[in-house]
Amino acid sequence: MLTLRQLFLNNNAQTTHFPLLLEFERAEGVYMYDAQGKAYIDLISGIGVSNLGHSNPRVINAIKEQVDKYMHLMVYGEYVQTPQVRFAEKLVSIMPKNLESVYFTNSGSEAVEGALKLAKRHTGRQQVVAFHNSYHGSTHGALSVMGNEEFKQAYRPLLPGVNFISLNNHDDLQLITEQTACVIIETIQGEAGIRLPDVAYMQALRERCTYVGALLILDEIQAAFGRTGKLFAFQHFDIVPDILLLAKALGGGMPVGAFVSSAAVMSAFKENPILGHITTFGGHPVCCAAGLAALEVLIDEKLVEQVPAKETLLRNHLAHPAIKNIRGKGLMLALELESFELNKKIIDTCIANGVITDWFLHCSNAMRLAPPLIISETEIINACAVVTAAIEEHTA
Ligand code: PMP
Repeated sequence: MLTLRQLFLNNNAQTTHFPLLLEFERAEGVYMYDAQGKAYIDLISGIGVSNLGHSNPRVINAIKEQVDKYMHLMVYGEYVQTPQVRFAEKLVSIMPKNLESVYFTNSGSEAVEGALKLAKRHTGRQQVVAFHNSYHGSTHGALSVMGNEEFKQAYRPLLPGVNFISLNNHDDLQLITEQTACVIIETIQGEAGIRLPDVAYMQALRERCTYVGALLILDEIQAAFGRTGKLFAFQHFDIVPDILLLAKALGGGMPVGAFVSSAAVMSAFKENPILGHITTFGGHPVCCAAGLAALEVLIDEKLVEQVPAKETLLRNHLAHPAIKNIRGKGLMLALELESFELNKKIIDTCIANGVITDWFLHCSNAMRLAPPLIISETEIINACAVVTAAIEEHTA
């Protein structure tokens, strides 16, 4: 009989020649457990998803309650479905005034697609400005605004009229013009290895967009919901986007994304032609029920407020001469090492010793540190000890 691993390799599509091949049976809190009961601490939250850790009881309850009522009823935007309505109401209540209309999608990439389309429709313009080293997803539109040639070159032709600019370069802002429909930027760049814009730069970018009438799209698919120590990352910069992109932690472990804008901007989807963006499963009722419960937990348990102290603890326990830098904000950190080869060896040792981490798509010499926000002080200290020991083992 074939093992699960063999079946996985035979029948499940593979996207690399070297999948991790870890097999987990269950997950709870910050831990995932394999078939032998070995615990692995999750330092990457399933790539920015599990902000509440795994198997939060309130989220599970909300899912179970919704499953008993109904699952899919109709394509997005026709029926008044309680979980979608209540979730949008809650989201809008915690956002700046202009972010009042929530379009739920299936994924982050679909939120990117929807937002780019909306910006074109609202402005009547065709050009887009995006950033070098950015990551916005893997569909054609999202690839078109990805700032990494290696990952997108095989898929051309992509969207025309996309200009790339560099983070924190004020001169480049002149490339945002009256022809620009929108600028899309990760509020904090994730896959670039956690790169932060300067506050003055973000404010100048906001001003430039407003001046030329281009919509500012902030991709917080990775950075929102407390990950950086604020509920939304744009709060670090004292700016507000025209369109906000959410996914990952939005669903509390279930798949849902969203793009959020003013009602006036969103209304462009209603005419010429109608149905400006269509999705069958976007805002699935079970995912929205989970997302609402997750947001309530995040707020009730004051998890965001705890992030800065946890960041400090992490940084303090990761002292080693081989660490060149620890970039980032809150629990969205990149630990920079000399090379990919060294990083990979350290990561493999960490995993063997029960600590899950990885590297970044556009920055292979940095290790991702993005644990669930619920991680305790003791868990941080223990995980840091494993990481530091692995660094020592491969650099001594
Ligand atoms: N934007 C950012 C900043 C992301 O990190 C990701 C996913 N890593 C996406 C968009 C795409 O999201 P998804 O994988 O859900 O399509």
